[in-house]
Amino acid sequence: MKKCLNCGAENKDENTFCSTCGGSAFSDIIVQEPGAVPPVPPVPPAPGQAPVPPVPPPPYIRPQPVKKPFGIFDVLTILGFVSSLVGLFSIWVVLEPLAVLASVVGFFKGGRFKGLAAAGIVISIIAFIIILFQTLYDGNIIGKWAIEGALNR
Ligand SMILES: [Zn+2]
Repeated sequence: MKKCLNCGAENKDENTFCSTCGGSAFSDIIVQEPGAVPPVPPVPPAPGQAPVPPVPPPPYIRPQPVKKPFGIFDVLTILGFVSSLVGLFSIWVVLEPLAVLASVVGFFKGGRFKGLAAAGIVISIIAFIIILFQTLYDGNIIGKWAIEGALNR
């Protein structure tokens, strides 16, 4: 768009004469559309000065997983797991209840070794089931077939 210098009316760029007053003098100021942003020309580098290279992005650093500190409850977890295994062969009446207790506390309170704690709980429960069935067999409540192993009959 261009502006008539005579009457100030806006005219199309291709107009030779003003569509309002017929004048032929136009301002060379381009009238911007409302809301349009004038383009910003790139700043040329000063003479004798090298153009500033674009800053490379910083290298990607993989975040390190935060390791939970080794605590007293993790010791309890290991104690529970070992007790559940040793109790299968010796002093079960002490070691298996200890294994359940230590493993349950270690599972919920410990930061690490949740799998080990779960294993300690499962092994202890299996030990109690074996003891229950052996006791039932000793009391002549169930037959020998009920306590035989699948491969040890
Ligand atoms: Zn005009």
